Amino acid sequence: MRLVLLGPPGAGKGTQAVILSEKLGIPHISTGDLFRANIGEGTPLGVEAKQYIDAGKLVPTDVTARMVQARLAEPDAAEGFLLDGFPRTVEQADILAALLAESGHSLDGVINYVVSEDVVVERMLSRGRADDNEETIRTRLGVYRDETAPLISYYGDRIINIEAEGSVEDISARTLAALGR
Ligand code: ADP
Repeated sequence: MRLVLLGPPGAGKGTQAVILSEKLGIPHISTGDLFRANIGEGTPLGVEAKQYIDAGKLVPTDVTARMVQARLAEPDAAEGFLLDGFPRTVEQADILAALLAESGHSLDGVINYVVSEDVVVERMLSRGRADDNEETIRTRLGVYRDETAPLISYYGDRIINIEAEGSVEDISARTLAALGR
């Protein structure tokens, strides 16, 4: 299964992705995790990405798309994947569609985690990651509204809305049920 996870920052996509990846037997590919690994290792990509991430802005699409393309080409992603954090703009969605089309594939579904802004702010402030301070959170929510939320209408009837408030277990059960698992 080739799935994209959508939702505002702090919606719990990463948490759910770990569970879904196990249950569905497909790799969890998180652009945020890939960037953080590169930052940790001090790679040129990490050095470039860090300035944007620390400011709560999007890393330029050419940089992000190259990283995703390389990851999707790895053998474990041949039969499916859960993409978390990409696409984040309509431009990135077009790039993803083109990448998949090259191998004759397309997305099976787009899971959209629906959660209120109050809840995501609360979750982000409590997890305390380096880029989770109030100012950056405000910037990221603005980027989400302006750049990422339009993907919901872009994907149209491929969207699977999941209510993402409540316990981690309830949300993963809802997601699996919606996928027919
Ligand atoms: P969250 O879901 O809380 O926003 P992520 O770990 O998904 O956190 O992303 C952290 C940061 O990494 C983003 O704020 C952004 O700077 C960068 N990033 C992640 N994915 C992308 C992407 N597809 N395009 C551009 N920047 C990205």
